[in-house]
Amino acid sequence: MVERSPVFADDPGPVIPVPVELSSHPGRHCLGADTEVFFPVSELGVLQARLVCTGCPVRVACREWATATGQHGVWGGTTREERAAQRDAEVSAVDPVRPVIAA
Ligand code: SF4
Repeated sequence: MVERSPVFADDPGPVIPVPVELSSHPGRHCLGADTEVFFPVSELGVLQARLVCTGCPVRVACREWATATGQHGVWGGTTREERAAQRDAEVSAVDPVRPVIAA
């Protein structure tokens, strides 16, 4: 049985074109790959997608774009949940909770 990610099935995410510097990069590792690989439904699938992204020359830019645009799936070797956690950590670092000073 093929499982589908409930998040992806119900909410395909924003339709924002991939920047041309990513989509047209001749060295990107996903060139010609089946896009289904990047929407895994199991941990093994996530590992397979990460393997494709490993060492990709545009990995950092890819991850940053996916984070900024809230993409679903694996981009830059990271899952949507990992990117959201990273974004939350960065926001917390910029706007830390103000310390409470006892009187
Ligand atoms: S990091 Fe992964 S998804 Fe992004 S361009 Fe490279 S191979 Fe494709």
